[in-house]
Amino acid sequence: MPGGVNSPVRAFKNIGGNPIFFEKANGAYLYDADGNEYIDYIGSWGPMIMGHSHPKIVDAIKRQAELGTSYGAPTGIESDVASLIKKCVPSIEKIRMVNSGTEATMSSIRLARGYTNRDKIIKFDGCYHGHVDSLLIKAGSGVLTFGLPDSPGIPKDLAKHTLSCAFNNKEEFLKVFESVKDDLAAVIVEPIAGNMGFVPGDIDFLKLLREVTTANGSILIFDEVMSGFRVSLGGAQEVFGIVPDLTALGKVIGGGLPVGAFGGKQKIMDQLAPLGPIYQAGTLSGNPLAMAAGSALLNLIINENPYKGLESKAASLLSEMQNIMDSAGIPFSSSQIGGMFGFFFSETLPKNINEVSKTDDDIFIKFLNACIGNGIYFAPSKYEAGFISTKHTDLEIEKTLTIIKKIINKGI
Ligand SMILES: *Cc1c(COP(=O)(O)O)cnc(C)c1O
Repeated sequence: MPGGVNSPVRAFKNIGGNPIFFEKANGAYLYDADGNEYIDYIGSWGPMIMGHSHPKIVDAIKRQAELGTSYGAPTGIESDVASLIKKCVPSIEKIRMVNSGTEATMSSIRLARGYTNRDKIIKFDGCYHGHVDSLLIKAGSGVLTFGLPDSPGIPKDLAKHTLSCAFNNKEEFLKVFESVKDDLAAVIVEPIAGNMGFVPGDIDFLKLLREVTTANGSILIFDEVMSGFRVSLGGAQEVFGIVPDLTALGKVIGGGLPVGAFGGKQKIMDQLAPLGPIYQAGTLSGNPLAMAAGSALLNLIINENPYKGLESKAASLLSEMQNIMDSAGIPFSSSQIGGMFGFFFSETLPKNINEVSKTDDDIFIKFLNACIGNGIYFAPSKYEAGFISTKHTDLEIEKTLTIIKKIINKGI
């Protein structure tokens, strides 16, 4: 496997180590093949919001496995998951399940292009929307970590239809918008970005995107593959009170199995085959095993609505980290919404990818290696977010802080 991994962000190339191979996970903990234990602040990049190997999810998967893992035909459980999602995210009037976040964004932009009969897409520097050809332009996450802002293998003829501008910068967006508005199919954005580190969108910036796309007949796509069911039950769109035309989901809604979904306004979604002419399909889409896991997790989080608790736990971790860094004279800033958080080695919180890239690499790499070496599993790149689960109790937070204090006191 190239780099020893099946997805680049799992490699530790960026912090100068080797990827860890895991064997099992439970609650807030991961266990590697050498028997080491880690407190997990990645949570499979989002889905483990109720902790790893939650018994209700494990049971749901076992029960469905006995009944068959795929029929290649509709099931009631797909409708259950669709209803749960619609109930929480009212902008989704109709939905289609796919197998990954990449498929969700790819299908969303095809739908937007087909519906508007236009070609151009505007995205934002450092937002990552999966490895879709049209969206791998100045993307975030692994492409940033490994310094590959524009991947080879994407035809220039296709790339020219994607314009990328600075996140949270209204003036730059308006300039780019003016230059392409007649052929602008869609604006796609991570309303709470988690792939350039954790960088929430400014509400005024997001409102502007909504106003301008509406007036122009362009589709506003919120990529909530990461923020959906992670920052609140209704996602970032609920946090900000902004209604997109289409939403891409993934990560949490699969309960740890491969699932994505996209949905939105009925009149747009009804342009998809078989009702409309825009083609989109998937042999394993909405497969019962993944739907069983997703449904179990969604029911758990709807019952518990854990977001306030997650946010205050993350806040207490980060504010104590701030104290530790302050007393050592290390520049540090952090923020959190619901079950997502981020920290940077900089005096002030970055608002876009440019500012994130200027945060201290040297301290980050030393700090990360020390954390991972001492059983604290933060994402091995400053361009990734942090994730907390309901299984991170005061005990795990205390343990984490004790280790961080030790690391910083030793000097990095
Ligand atoms: C993870 C992610 C994707 C891609 O999802 P995959 O399931 O990895 O294909 C797309 N958009 C955002 C915002 C993501 O965080």
